[in-house]
Amino acid sequence: MINVDFEGFRYHKPLPNFYKINNPENPRREISDELLDELNQFAKKYNFSSISYSKLSDEFKKDFNIDFDNVIIFKFLMGDELLKMQPSREKCKLMDEEFQDYGVHIYEFADFLRENGFQADLLHPLDDGLSLRAIAMQSCECIITRSNICLFKDGLHNGFFMIHTSIDNLPFKNENEMLWVEDFCSTCGVCIDMCPEDAFDENEKVLRKICTAHKEGCNVCILRCPFFKRGYDKVKKRYERMKK
Ligand code: SF4
Ligand code: SF4
Repeated sequence: MINVDFEGFRYHKPLPNFYKINNPENPRREISDELLDELNQFAKKYNFSSISYSKLSDEFKKDFNIDFDNVIIFKFLMGDELLKMQPSREKCKLMDEEFQDYGVHIYEFADFLRENGFQADLLHPLDDGLSLRAIAMQSCECIITRSNICLFKDGLHNGFFMIHTSIDNLPFKNENEMLWVEDFCSTCGVCIDMCPEDAFDENEKVLRKICTAHKEGCNVCILRCPFFKRGYDKVKKRYERMKK
């Protein structure tokens, strides 16, 4: 069991070294379906909801000044009970603990890949400069909602961690089926109406200085959103009916 230093994943702090295995000197670049399936099962064992894969283009790498190509995204769904707690410092602390509890397992996934001959390194989960959301968008499996949240089909209340790796033959997608969400959001606006802090500007962008999601754990825009209340598939069906 890894002991988690609560300061483990903090802004401006380097990642702790919880790896038990070093990266191989000559990393492999191709993974078999069986091994990838094993990695998926490993993630499920620790209650991660699913895995996505991002292939970063040369342009993207240049924009963000990074030199890796292949990213594996491990997603988990935040606990319902916690999400529904009233915003408070205590809630924030519990959310942080949940995040850290999932986060330590990422080192085990990296070690699993390393011991199988692949390079694997955790990306700092709180590095705003890197924009993990932009990397998530490169998976073509998510979309940024009007409430500025990264929506995957699994849910709106996702947390995620990322590993960059030498594996070139991951099942990358290059078409995003979720672009319709932008149009749906433009007809909805519930998050804006229900925000207790009035944290949206005149262009309907979330004002991070006013939003209390990080300070107090406010989740109102998640809890009131149709994607959270009904789920992705039901909202999509409703949208398709609306468009007929
Ligand atoms: S509440 Fe409505 S507008 Fe806001 S993110 Fe959800 S679907 Fe989009
Ligand atoms: S988290 Fe709360 S304060 Fe922030 S935008 Fe959503 S509803 Fe508003």
